[in-house]
Amino acid sequence: MDDRLAKQGTEQVFRALEAELRGEDSELYPTRWIDVAAYDPAAQLWIVKGLDLLLRNAATAGPDFDGVRASSLLVDRAPERRFDPTISGERFTYEILTLSGWLETALPAGLTVPAAPALTRLGGIYRPPAAKPFDPDALTAALLPALTERLTEQRTWWADSAEADDPMWLADTARAVQAFVRDSTGLFTGACADGPLNEGFAYDQDVAGASARPDDDTSRLTFLRQQVHLLGRAELVSAGYDHTRMDEAEALDDLLRDWLTDDISLNDLVGDLLGHSPAHRNGPAGWIYLPERPPGAGWGPREAWRPYVYRLMMHELVHRLAHARYIEAVDMVADPQILAEGVVDLLTCEFLELSRSHPELGALVPEDGSVGYGASGQAAAQISDLVGPDNVKAAFFLGRVEFLGISL
Ligand SMILES: [Zn+2]
Repeated sequence: MDDRLAKQGTEQVFRALEAELRGEDSELYPTRWIDVAAYDPAAQLWIVKGLDLLLRNAATAGPDFDGVRASSLLVDRAPERRFDPTISGERFTYEILTLSGWLETALPAGLTVPAAPALTRLGGIYRPPAAKPFDPDALTAALLPALTERLTEQRTWWADSAEADDPMWLADTARAVQAFVRDSTGLFTGACADGPLNEGFAYDQDVAGASARPDDDTSRLTFLRQQVHLLGRAELVSAGYDHTRMDEAEALDDLLRDWLTDDISLNDLVGDLLGHSPAHRNGPAGWIYLPERPPGAGWGPREAWRPYVYRLMMHELVHRLAHARYIEAVDMVADPQILAEGVVDLLTCEFLELSRSHPELGALVPEDGSVGYGASGQAAAQISDLVGPDNVKAAFFLGRVEFLGISL
């Protein structure tokens, strides 16, 4: 390649490689040379070597690989490149394969969509038979008293909470978690070419203390809905709740609004807990709230606090990496917690385990590495056993939900 560049010059080499990678569609699009010409020589070399690398790996790119998009992505992403083709070796290779979208198509090319026996069992997990209609009164009777009791107990943890933890620790750990997840948790995690890990997302700038979480009717409803899904799965099922049935999610929200209106002490309780609870917005942007004040002794030993927050940080970062199509698939399942939280926590536990040997993060890995979210976490583990962990990752990070047996 260096000889060729010396003989032919960058423009001629770029145009030839671009045309070859674009393939038969090449003539439909104007060349991007005009953009490349404006870059400095280091960026131009990165692009040319990247195109050459893609052409040498074209055979394994998978049937969905798009050479037009790939060559364009490299031109667009050159200013943010991290690695130098002449000295960075494998890291340059990985950077090109990621940013061009090559990994996005190459990784799933080796996977198979679940077939008959597994598909039937998946159907049983996604859509358990809910014969009877949703009965809100039955849910109130079965869940509200127990839920209020649990939340009241949680509030006592915070009554004697300690000083806020060092905000620098939160920011430093956020940076370390992001770098670890991007570089050390396998090829799928960062494979989405326009996913947060390749799009300038900075975790440390998006974390905020939970006390800064806005407190309004919507936040309170969201919090209560989360708690109901978290603590009341059995009660939801026995009350006939099915998230995929028309208007049922809305009926549940109506019921929870009634709870909050009719019961002022529940409403206060929710308001008090909001400022201590982690939260995030679905989608590519927005604050990720993490509790910044350690609770009192009723919660547990003080030395367990930072490992607990580290686990939360990992969990919230995994949420942020969910592909938009995966988030759509959440609502296709009768119990949305399975894909929304169960799978997130399954991946969280895998990544936490991988971080045990990390110089900074290793000491923060909680002893108990089991997947949370009760039956939803167990269902996620069953799904992973049925389809294989790579299928779960292709669905989660790349939106290829057909590998979970789900069609949108
Ligand atoms: Zn979560």
